[in-house]
Amino acid sequence: MDIDAATREQLQNWEKELNAQYQRICEHELSLDITRGKPSADQLHLSDGLDGILNGEYRAADGTDTRNYGGLEGLMCARELGADILQVPVEEVIAGGNSSLTLMYCAVLTGYLFGYAGNKPWKELEAPKFLCPVPGYDRHFAICEQLGIGMVNVPMTDSGPDMDAVEALIEKDRDIIGIWCVPKFSNPTGVTYSAETVERLAQLGRIANPGFRIFWDNAYAIHDLDNQVNLANIRTATVENDTADSVIQFASTSKVTHAGAGLAFVSASSDNLASLKKQMQAMTIGPDKINQLRHARFFAEFTLLKEHMHKHAQILKPKFQCVLSHLEKAFKDSDLGEWENPLGGYFVSFNTRPGCAAAVVELAAQAGVKLTPAGATFPYGVDPEDRNIRIAPSFPPLDELDTAMSVFVLCVKLASVRKQLEML
Ligand code: PMP
Repeated sequence: MDIDAATREQLQNWEKELNAQYQRICEHELSLDITRGKPSADQLHLSDGLDGILNGEYRAADGTDTRNYGGLEGLMCARELGADILQVPVEEVIAGGNSSLTLMYCAVLTGYLFGYAGNKPWKELEAPKFLCPVPGYDRHFAICEQLGIGMVNVPMTDSGPDMDAVEALIEKDRDIIGIWCVPKFSNPTGVTYSAETVERLAQLGRIANPGFRIFWDNAYAIHDLDNQVNLANIRTATVENDTADSVIQFASTSKVTHAGAGLAFVSASSDNLASLKKQMQAMTIGPDKINQLRHARFFAEFTLLKEHMHKHAQILKPKFQCVLSHLEKAFKDSDLGEWENPLGGYFVSFNTRPGCAAAVVELAAQAGVKLTPAGATFPYGVDPEDRNIRIAPSFPPLDELDTAMSVFVLCVKLASVRKQLEML
């Protein structure tokens, strides 16, 4: 379908044809959901061995009785798991509760209310703001929005955020005090930052406000679908650049074991951790060490964790293949959409022609297929070009995903033709 070259009459014929197909689908009264990146039941079963694993043995190897209060930094064996995932020294890791997002919220709040490592609290700046590579993760943006921290869009490229834009913005605006990064299998584009991007990010601490922090949300650090994709180590890069305080890293086992019942980790320099702990100790006496011990026993060695992730990949791979083969079949030789081929993570990011994404989501909803709301991958829910749609293939069974994708591609075609007609 060469939409730009089509005459009005051709477009009207296509619209009629596509609309007839669409009406037939609507009659099926489907109820399918590819909105959020939740693991499927098959994936969750992989971790059912956690249940009962302690079998009455509540003491950790260092003698800690995990049933009792205490230990703000988490059990050593849980911190070791976080250190393995993030590839950082264990002394720089805190093992927390069930959610890395909570740790991120706490970390942003620490900067905002109290400041890091002796720097001015961000709230004292005239207009504190974060750089937000877009499309990005809606829950990151929600944290900033809730705290009244401004957000500035920076385009994502296939090697990470557009670093020329990042550096130029930071050089001219001292009120930029953070950047959100999902460096491996980014949510939603699936891109892994190149070594050059990591190096340039590590150098930002030299030109930015001293209170500036990179929020390195490595949520998909070990979520490779096939061969391992290497991400350069940001800690090493910042230590070499003498900017170790400029980064705070996060990870969790939410998409490793049981989502919402796993372990979360934060890692940073000792000065940053001291600032964080000051706030955390007013919030909690300590994390759920019983769950931490369960996880440490379940993954007694890092190789076990790797094998476990391989099993996830075996379940996820056919789902990614399903999405990608639908997109390829429908749009390979057209200009109706663009997408990335992710090598891991949880999402496929699809760009429609400008001005069509909201219409696609609306059409799909009416046909019984729920998609992530258009705009959700941008700060304030506003996609300036109305193009991006995040597809989350993990949760539905393969046959449902297959149906949902047939509806999706049809809605993209229909919305594109209607938009073109509107513009003639
Ligand atoms: N960060 C990213 C990039 C995510 O995609 C998600 C889950 N969708 C989270 C954080 C949430 O992590 P947690 O369950 O540890 O709070």
